[in-house]
Amino acid sequence: MGNSVLVVLSGGQDSTTCLYWAIDKFGSDAVETVTFDYGQRHRIELECAEKIASKAGVRNALLPIDTFGALGGSALTDERVTIVVESEVNRDLPSTFVPGRNLIFLTFAAAFAYQRGIKHLVTGVAQTDYSGYPDCREETIKALQEAISLGMEAEFEIHIPLMHLSKKKTVLLAKKVGGLAAMADTHTCYEGSRPPCGTCPACELRAKGFDEAGIADPLLSARDD
Ligand SMILES: [Zn+2]
Repeated sequence: MGNSVLVVLSGGQDSTTCLYWAIDKFGSDAVETVTFDYGQRHRIELECAEKIASKAGVRNALLPIDTFGALGGSALTDERVTIVVESEVNRDLPSTFVPGRNLIFLTFAAAFAYQRGIKHLVTGVAQTDYSGYPDCREETIKALQEAISLGMEAEFEIHIPLMHLSKKKTVLLAKKVGGLAAMADTHTCYEGSRPPCGTCPACELRAKGFDEAGIADPLLSARDD
C-alpha cells in the first residue's frame, strides 16, 4: 500500500500523460486516479477522464467540489465570464485562472490518499509554456507538499513529472511511457468542442506541442466510440 500512487486526472493531455508516467514507474496495479467535478463548464472532461482511466485499467474516483461555481469569476466555471487573456481581477492572469484550484485539488487528493494508505500523489502542473498560473509553480507545490504532510502527519510526495517540460517534451514523454494512443480520448479545447475548435489558446498550445514533436495528435483523427 505504501508504494501506491494517486494521479489527479482531469481528462486533459497533461494529466493523462502523468497517468501513463505513473503506470510506467509504479506499475498499473499500484495506480489509482481521482477526478474532481468542480462545476467545470465542459462536462466532457469528466467523461474523458472516466474513459481514459477505464482504458488504462485503473480505478477512477469522481469527487464533487461544488464551491468554485459559487465563487464565480473564472471563465472555466462561470459561463458569464468570457475567455480572455487578462482577467478583470488581476491583469497578469487570464480569465481561465480558477483561484486556489490546484491547492484544493491536491489537498482533497491527499485526504483521499490518506484514507487509502497512499503516499504518492501525481499532478500534471507545469510552469513552462503555460499561462503563468501561480498554483502551477514548483515553489507552490513544494510548499503544499510540506503543508499536507504536516497537516495530516503523513509523508506525502507530490510528483510533478511535467513541471519543467515544454509542450513538445510533454508529447515526447507521452510517447515514451506508452500514453500516446490515450491522447485520442483527452480533452483540451476551452470551447468544449469535440472535435476541438483548433483556434482557442488551449487548442493552439496543444497543436504547437505536437507540431514541434513531429507527432500527429491522435485526437484529431479520433472517432468517438
Ligand atoms: Zn479549442
